[in-house]
Formats: sequence, C-alpha cells, structure tokens
Amino acid sequence: MEYADLVALYERLAATESTNEKRTLLATQFADAGEQLHRLVLLTRGRLYPAYDREELGVSSQSVLAAIAKASGVAETPLRDRWSETGDLGDVAAWAVENGGQQTLFSAPLTVERVHDTLRELPGFDGAGSQDRRVDTVAGLLSNADPEEARYVVRTALGHLRVGVGEGTIRDAIADAFLEGGDEAVDAVERAYQVTTDFQVVARTARDDGRPGLEQLSVELGRPVQVMLAETAEDVPDGVAEVAADGVALCEYKYDGFRVQIHVDGDDISIFTRRLEDVTEQFPDVVRAVQEAVTPARVVLDGELVGYTPETVGAEPQGREPLAFQQLSRRIKRESDIEATARELPVVGHVFDCLYEDGSLLSAPLRERRDRLDDVVTAVSPEPDTGIAGFEIAHFRRMPGDEPTGASELYREALDAGHEGVMLKNPEAAYQPGRRVGRLLKHKPTMEPLDLVVTRAQYSEGRRSQLLGRLFLGCYDPETGDLLEVGRLSTGYTDEELQQLTDSLETLVIGQDGRRVELEPSVVLEVEYEELQESPEYGSGYALRFPRYLRTRDTLAPEDADTIDRVETLYESQ
Ligand code: AMP
Repeated sequence: MEYADLVALYERLAATESTNEKRTLLATQFADAGEQLHRLVLLTRGRLYPAYDREELGVSSQSVLAAIAKASGVAETPLRDRWSETGDLGDVAAWAVENGGQQTLFSAPLTVERVHDTLRELPGFDGAGSQDRRVDTVAGLLSNADPEEARYVVRTALGHLRVGVGEGTIRDAIADAFLEGGDEAVDAVERAYQVTTDFQVVARTARDDGRPGLEQLSVELGRPVQVMLAETAEDVPDGVAEVAADGVALCEYKYDGFRVQIHVDGDDISIFTRRLEDVTEQFPDVVRAVQEAVTPARVVLDGELVGYTPETVGAEPQGREPLAFQQLSRRIKRESDIEATARELPVVGHVFDCLYEDGSLLSAPLRERRDRLDDVVTAVSPEPDTGIAGFEIAHFRRMPGDEPTGASELYREALDAGHEGVMLKNPEAAYQPGRRVGRLLKHKPTMEPLDLVVTRAQYSEGRRSQLLGRLFLGCYDPETGDLLEVGRLSTGYTDEELQQLTDSLETLVIGQDGRRVELEPSVVLEVEYEELQESPEYGSGYALRFPRYLRTRDTLAPEDADTIDRVETLYESQ
C-alpha cells in the first residue's frame, strides 16, 4: 500500500468532525487492508507499538527539526519561527518540503510498510552517534516525501497525529469491518481490547476467527490487561451494603501509591503501571522482592506500590510513614542512578489481586482470587540497603454487609496509618478489565474546592494548540500581596469554556516566551482536586494533585482568592 493512500485517509479523517464518518472510513480501509491490517490499526492512531510496549521511538522535537532542515535545505531558524507560530512540526515539515530548495527524490514512492518499518528502527539505535542516525533516518523518509506525506511522517515520529481518531473509533471500525456491527459486536471488540490492550491482536482475531475468536482471548503473560476501576462510595456503611454478596463484603486499605500489574513468567518479570507503561527497569528492588515472594512460575498480580520514608519502611505496617505520591513519582521517571534512588525512596508492593496462575483467573470470584494470593505470595520485608523492596498482601477484613461499623473502623485505621481511605469489594465479582462496574468502590475524604488565580499559561499541544490549555494557578498571600503558585491545571473544561478562557487571558498577556505567556493576574477559577501535596516545584510549597476546572469566578478579584493560610490549613487537615 502506498503511503500516499494512507495520507489521503488521514486527510479525510481530519476533515470530518463526525465520529460516524471516521468510523466508516476506517472500517472500509481495515476491511481492504489485507496484509497491512496490523500496521494500519496502529498507524491510523499515529502509533507504531501497542500501548503497553516498552519501545519508544525516542525522537525529540529537536531531532525532527534537524531532520526537516536536512531534508528540505531550509535553515533551522525559520523552521523554529514557524513552529512557534503553528505549534505543529508536521505543518512545518509540509511547508519546508514545499518551499525548500532541496529537490525531493521521488525515485521511490513511500509505502506504508517502509514508513512503518523505518520508524520502528529508531529505538534500536544506541550509543554514540545514535541521535545523528535518528536525524538521518527521519530525513531519509522526508527526502522521499511530498509535503502532505512529510506532515504525517513527522507527526507519526512525534506521536501526535491530530486526525481525531481515538481508541473508541478504532474499536467501532473493527466491529463494523469484521463483525456484524451493532452494540454487541462493539462490546465484543471492547472486551477483547481490555483483555489484550492490543488492537493488532484484536483486529486480526476479529477478521480471522470472528466473535468466538475474540471471546477466547484472555490474559497472556507479558501482555498487560486493563485494570479494573473503582466507583466512589459516598459513605462507608452504604458502600459496604452495596458491594456485599451473600452477606459479606471485602474491605481493604486504599493505599496511596501507584497501581502496578506484575507479570511473572519464570525469571522474566515485568511491571506495568495503570496506564500500562512498562516500568520494570525503574524498580529493580521490586523485581528482587517478587523473585523472593512469589513461588509459582507463571503468575499475574495486581497491586499498589507505595513509597515510605527510609527510616520507617522497615517498621511494623502501622508505624510506616508513606511518602507523598509526588516524591514517589521521581522513581517512575528515573533513567539513571536507579539503585541510589531506590534506597532514597524505598517502596512496598501491596498486592490485592491475582489475575493469572498457570491460566486466567479473570472469571473466578474475587474471594477465590484472594485465596490464590495466599498460596502464591510470601511476605518479604523491605531491605533498602540491600536493594530489596517490601512485598505483602494488602491489609483487609471480611465484613458482614449488615453490620458495617467494622468497615468504618478500618477506614479510620487506614487514615491514621497515612493511607488514603478504603476499598470496598464484592467477593463474588469477576475481574472486569477496564470497567467501572460498581463491584469495586472506594471511599476517601474529599477536599473542598479552591478559588485560585491564573498567573501564567501555555498553549496546548494537538487539537487545542490555539488554546491556552495549561494554566498555572496561584493562591494569595495577604501579607505581601503576592500570588504563590500551587500547581498547573489542564483538564475539566469543555472546548467552549477553554475558548472563552483563552479569549479573556489573551487580553492579559504581559510577556511571551515561545508558547508560554506571562499574565497580569486577574482571572480567578474554582478548581477541585484530590489532594494537596508538599512540593518544592511551586512558590507556595504545595501542589494540587489532579486539579480539575470547575468554573470561572467572574465576581472575584485576585485578592478574593483563597490564601496561602487556607492552603496550609487544608494540607494539614487531610
Ligand atoms: P482512584 O485512583 O481514586 O480512582 O482509586 C482507585 C485506585 O486506588 C486503584 O487504581 C489503585 O491504584 C488504588 N488502590 C489502592 N489500594 C487499593 C486496593 N486495596 N484495591 C484496589 N485498588 C487500590
């Protein structure tokens, strides 16, 4: 298949807002794809690997800019100027190929296979000179590209395709292309995707083996399933009554760290996050703990990794001091000094589910999966000095559904020990990957919203590149009159709300640096969030965790915003 044909599809997808039309365009293409199907299901979302694969292209914007310069003969400075105007290096590439002095070598028209396979070579370049080889490789593709092709080669290399195709559209198109369509077909594809996280497998199976084939797909070692999600219980006793089955509910500590899915296949151990990123390399201490803790050779475990202070991690569970998530997140991003960071920020893995033991356990009831955990896991004490993490089964109690005071006690106990709250679980429920089904509830204290002032902003990437979608927020210091930043907001608004905000913020710009703007403080927003954390990153010393926009407070001036004292009090109270 010629790459120009895929580019024509990208343009048709980008030209319509209608998801139905996108779905039909994709379904037709998938049905005709033949041998290219596995490439197309990823490339139509601008991907080269399934979501969980640890490979990343590792191409920086800077390398792409250099590749555009090399292929087009246009100097980097004008390219950079255009980039700050449009925010999209794909558009810059199209313009440069169109207007550059260099002759494009149309000798070999680009094929889908060549673009796909060439870009997939990039992660393999290692060591000295690898950056130059990446530049040369991308430039090689661009030298053979017409302007439109160049736009999409660049966007694919950078992972921002901008044609408005989400996972849901790919799912629906696969259902239309290979099954009879309709809600049931869509559900079958959805379930298969939640179990495999791989549209290549799902599309191929749907085409070759239909619905029965999709139903057969199950957990496989090394390929993470999407995690089961929780709904909120407004209060603990009601939550217990809601999830109880045969008069019993399972109540567990809700730990505040990050979700991990651990795959053990003999000596081959992989650790995936909730977003299914592979973080095995960042946690050698957990790998060692799993080697000690887990007896059978082939297991998948679900749990939460929690950071504790090095002084307390070795204490009894109630005496440990959990680290704020912000601190722990340093370990997730770490690429060097991994062992030293592990000693500074030691973790304990608290496992609460077993999804596989020599075969899938997804449809077994939770009580049975919990029993398997007892067979599979032996607790391991943390030894930060020797580089071994702690590993244990999450603290839980079985509660009668009609006598929920014990669950409220467990909740207080969890908060006293510095954890986040409780999880309430239906012991008869199967594991439902990717679903929120009311059989898994969470309860934790909620935080009051804050009124905060927008101090600086940055234009978004992608579809919202003309909108100021990243807003830095400050609280008020009545003593000095300063605004002290407490975090950055980027979700919760509709397109229309963000457009209105951008219109008012653009009248307040007092300085600009690339895509960042400095603002005269005037706009006050009401923001909700899950938690306040200490943070050296912001002037207030605190950071909001998961802030979301609620509304604009037109009637408030910056002096009416919440104060640093209020932020401190809320921090202390959580
Ligand atoms: P939330 O992130 O607030 O929606 O709460 C759900 C998250 O709580 C899960 O994704 C896990 O990362 C985390 N969690 C902590 N402890 C548990 C537990 N005992 N069972 C299930 N999830 C837990």
